[in-house]
Amino acid sequence: MPTLGTEQNPLLVAIVGSGPSGFYAAEALLKSGLTVKVDMLERLPTPFGLVRSGVAPDHQKLKQAIKLYEKIAHSPDFNLIANVTVGVDISVAQLCASHHAVIFACGAESDRKLGIPGEDLKGSYTATEFVGWYNGHPDYRDCVFDLSHAVAVIIGQGNVAADVGRILAKTVDALKHTDIAQHALDALAESKIKEIHIIGRRGPTQAKFTPKELREFGELPDCHSIVLPEDMILNPESEKELAEKNNIASKKIYDLFCAFSKCDIDHAKSRKCFFNFLMSPKELIGHERLEKIILEKNILSGASFQQSASATGETVELETGLLFRSIGYRGVPLTGVPFADNQGLIPNDKGRVLDSNANIVLQMYAAGWIKRGPSGIIGTNRACSVETVECLLHDLTRLDDGNKKAGADAVLSILNDKKHRYINYDEWQKIDAKEIERGKIKGKPREKYTSIRDMLSVID
Ligand code: NAP
Repeated sequence: MPTLGTEQNPLLVAIVGSGPSGFYAAEALLKSGLTVKVDMLERLPTPFGLVRSGVAPDHQKLKQAIKLYEKIAHSPDFNLIANVTVGVDISVAQLCASHHAVIFACGAESDRKLGIPGEDLKGSYTATEFVGWYNGHPDYRDCVFDLSHAVAVIIGQGNVAADVGRILAKTVDALKHTDIAQHALDALAESKIKEIHIIGRRGPTQAKFTPKELREFGELPDCHSIVLPEDMILNPESEKELAEKNNIASKKIYDLFCAFSKCDIDHAKSRKCFFNFLMSPKELIGHERLEKIILEKNILSGASFQQSASATGETVELETGLLFRSIGYRGVPLTGVPFADNQGLIPNDKGRVLDSNANIVLQMYAAGWIKRGPSGIIGTNRACSVETVECLLHDLTRLDDGNKKAGADAVLSILNDKKHRYINYDEWQKIDAKEIERGKIKGKPREKYTSIRDMLSVID
């Protein structure tokens, strides 16, 4: 057999997942200088993962990453096979048989659990559900959030909590020209929420927001952001953290919170957003649905940058019928692929998948959140995917078993045998064009289709 990665013997790689890490992996492969064919498999009929269904609708600029992904997708050596669930419509073993390597770039589709009583009461939701709902993700379009309560609580102080808080705090006027799903816009127009509490288990210097995202809370047209002045008093370890030269982001965050704590209450604004610190949810209480939350006050212990929260025993109650748990995502296991349940990701060494004995599993690679956990911004995935692809290219001789691989032909033949309706990139472009057209009438960048049936009806 000619060397792998040449015109006579192209390197065939299947990528599972079409979010940023999948596309950055495809980019690195296609720019490698070798002859490579990339087949990207996606569960939904629509590509781009969290850039389409995670990034908040009022953050359209972040969605410009899609422009690069579109360029990658136009490469003659790139193939999108969407509306296909790996593990259901086609197995991992079948992908390993048809391709030299498989890169799992399937993100973190589930959520961490709080593990407290009442967590699953009606009225208590994951941020994933709410984000998917307002972004028109087919899995969450039928969710119903009762926005008739005066108080909404968000647990966690990361950027997802910021997105959820901002969408609840914004006026419909501020959202109606975004690509927010129409069902969400209609429900938010009827919202009776007056108070939003974003609750952190640690202090203001440990909050995980990025400064840009927190700054937006000081610029909301109809919501006043509030921090209690006493919450700005720091313990010596937190002071040390702030004094650290490289810790610029925390300093900016702290200054923003300080500004919120000093602002006079603007009574003209109809909503208030409180940032509460050093509190953990202990129990969610309610008969048929959530009525109140018991929060336990925390104290920080440990050296600076390693401070953790421990409960003091002192509790406070907050009456609320609507709570969002925004404490981080978690990967979901895929049949036939090793999974580290304690970490919620695929165990790996720089992207090379490892089995339970820490031995490399030939042909299998991981990239993005399923590789390193749910952290970082969109661009963080580029370096992550490049590292994985470097390992893959380094392994080239081991990936060639001397047998000719059928690549996409084998995958499509399996799907055709099952009469499974997969979608290629041209077909996605038809859905895309129709969504943009639907949005134009409303002054929106697009009006997304939220059901798979509707998406298919555009092309069939
Ligand atoms: P995150 O940044 O890891 O924040 C999770 C939050 O939940 C932290 O405040 C964490 O507190 C808290 N938490 C975890 N376990 C908890 C528990 N048992 N009880 C109470 N609180 C708990 O996660 P994320 O907000 O889901 O964001 C995921 C990634 O996506 C991040 O890298 C984020 O920056 C990125 N993202 C970026 C944007 C953007 O750029 N605009 C938008 C959305 C998301 P501790 O710090 O104490 O653990």
